[in-house]
Amino acid sequence: MTRKRTALVTGGSRGIGLAIARELAAAGHRVAVTCRGAAPEGLYAVRCDVTDTAEVDAAFSAVERDLGPVEILVANAGITADGPYAVMKEERFTTVIDTNLTGAHRCARRAVRGMVRGRWGRIVFIGSEVALSGNAGQANYAAAKAGLIGLSRSLARELGRRGITVNTVTPGLIRTDMTAGLPACHVEELLARVPVPRVGRPEDVAAAVRWLTDESTGYVTGAVVPVDGGLGMGH
Ligand code: NDP
Repeated sequence: MTRKRTALVTGGSRGIGLAIARELAAAGHRVAVTCRGAAPEGLYAVRCDVTDTAEVDAAFSAVERDLGPVEILVANAGITADGPYAVMKEERFTTVIDTNLTGAHRCARRAVRGMVRGRWGRIVFIGSEVALSGNAGQANYAAAKAGLIGLSRSLARELGRRGITVNTVTPGLIRTDMTAGLPACHVEELLARVPVPRVGRPEDVAAAVRWLTDESTGYVTGAVVPVDGGLGMGH
């Protein structure tokens, strides 16, 4: 039987984060999501912008007070700000790094203290297939997501002896608000390279996260788990 744990999913207001939160709740966990706007129905939500260290700290404190120490962290919050690298403004680069990489680090660092005390923890970073393959127009995003893999593997090495696993899930093309604006021709072109011939669903990612956060996967750490229909062929 799955032991009930306290889980925090950043960016759980919609898309992949919301699907993960619902999946973890269905697994029996006490689930909190962070959001910046309206809270999703039926889930415990705390306000938090991951670019603000004080807000991250306050969000964790609220969850600890109401649901107990965070034992499962899913660092999912992310943005894109695509554009050609040659003319990419510095701010466009640093904002994506600050949200997608440093934001995940702020949450992980805050979570680790309690996990070390409890001698158990599961951290999952939501990366991206483009971290490994690169993508024209997404230098900022791919750099941030590649950084998550280095962060995740270093933490896996540092925290394994404490009963804490740290893994990264790398989704391919998933149907959410983030990808809703992609031109149809771009989607077609991408799909032509995906062995499983469909766009991914947030639930596809959520299923992998559920597995990685289970009691039974304590021997899986430092892994990069693709959920991309085979786009990257495991790389
Ligand atoms: P969405 O745009 O649908 O959702 C993004 C989520 O991140 C929202 O909950 C948003 O909150 C939150 N968020 C953004 N910036 C911040 C911030 N500064 N502080 C707190 N929360 C923030 O995207 P997806 O669901 O598609 O993406 C989820 C994750 O999956 C991201 O990390 C993304 O990079 C990754 N991913 C997505 C892929 C896809 O094809 N969709 C492919 C590969 C990876 P709010 O509602 O307040 O804006």
